[in-house]
Amino acid sequence: MKSACIVVFALLADAAFGQYHLYWGDMHGHSALSDGKGSPDDYFTHARDVARLDFAILTDHDFGNGRPEWHLPTNNWTLIQETADGFTVPGRFVAVGGYEWTSQEKYWSGLTNGPSERLFPGLPRHYNHKNVYFPSRVDYLFSAKDPAYHTPDRLAVAVLKHGGLIHNDHPDAAEAGRDQFDYAPAHAAVIANSEIYPDTILYQGKSFPVRGEETLRAFLNRGGRTGFVAGTDSHEGKPAARTAVLARALTRAAIFDALRHRRNYAINHTRIGLDFRINGHFMGEEIELTGKPRIAVEVKGTAPIEEIVIVRNGEVIQSRRPRKPKAAFTYVDRAFAGPSYYYVRVIQTDTDPHGNHSHAWSSPIWVRPNR
Ligand SMILES: [Zn+2]
Ligand SMILES: [Zn+2]
Repeated sequence: MKSACIVVFALLADAAFGQYHLYWGDMHGHSALSDGKGSPDDYFTHARDVARLDFAILTDHDFGNGRPEWHLPTNNWTLIQETADGFTVPGRFVAVGGYEWTSQEKYWSGLTNGPSERLFPGLPRHYNHKNVYFPSRVDYLFSAKDPAYHTPDRLAVAVLKHGGLIHNDHPDAAEAGRDQFDYAPAHAAVIANSEIYPDTILYQGKSFPVRGEETLRAFLNRGGRTGFVAGTDSHEGKPAARTAVLARALTRAAIFDALRHRRNYAINHTRIGLDFRINGHFMGEEIELTGKPRIAVEVKGTAPIEEIVIVRNGEVIQSRRPRKPKAAFTYVDRAFAGPSYYYVRVIQTDTDPHGNHSHAWSSPIWVRPNR
């Protein structure tokens, strides 16, 4: 009975997304090879068998566990990639080997106090962290401690050559994120996505004003190009669904193709189904239009929906409060007058154990008028 329900749901989901299927994964997590718990084997086993994910990326830190090496020790980087290959069964589960490029201010010599590894001259840069992952084996790890790869631009050039992708981790509105988007606009083709989360996060009874979505909106308002993903950043070996991709098949190549084209959206708790299109184009696309954008939104929620908003160029232009788990509507933006980005945010009434409401954020669609 249970499997029959799953089949029916899968058929509905397939029909809704045309040539694409919806797959769920986690883009960010650690094992005991850096500062997490458990082995890579444990991580992917939990992802596949407990969290029931379609794909998972393991992203241990690139510096070596207090060891003197500049990189995640080569044998560990090899182990991560071999484990990911071993777990990958096309059509059933895709495991991806990656790492967290962990840039830190102590690597620059311009510090007056505190511990310093003083690898690079000048004042510290605040590039924050970036997750890096590849569709196939790469022997060398492009570390944030290596002068050849210590800036986002240098990293992007190297990763592009190997067919990999990068995303901006935990965007930071404070000093620690000052230079996180400091890369050539063309490198958005490889630094395709960024992690998104609410502007305020509740954790163990306390409220943290992290300005997650606001930070990304500011980047988009400056003309930045990024899609939205999320990850648990689990250090307990417990990956969970945080990113949905629209991919042609459950293969590594198809998952990378979806992420490269930003056909993905982020959630922070439950698996909210979200379809967002403009004149038939999917999230992540950059399009040119004659006439006004016809925006179609469909949400298959897991609890009553508190609010669905459409954001254009940083402003909410439409808000709906369905108060039930499913909603679908079309909105024509008659005020559209020039190059614009649009995205959709969904907030449900249910909460996680800390009190955070379930959210979903579509990747943006960029629209230019055809004059
Ligand atoms: Zn990090
Ligand atoms: Zn992390």
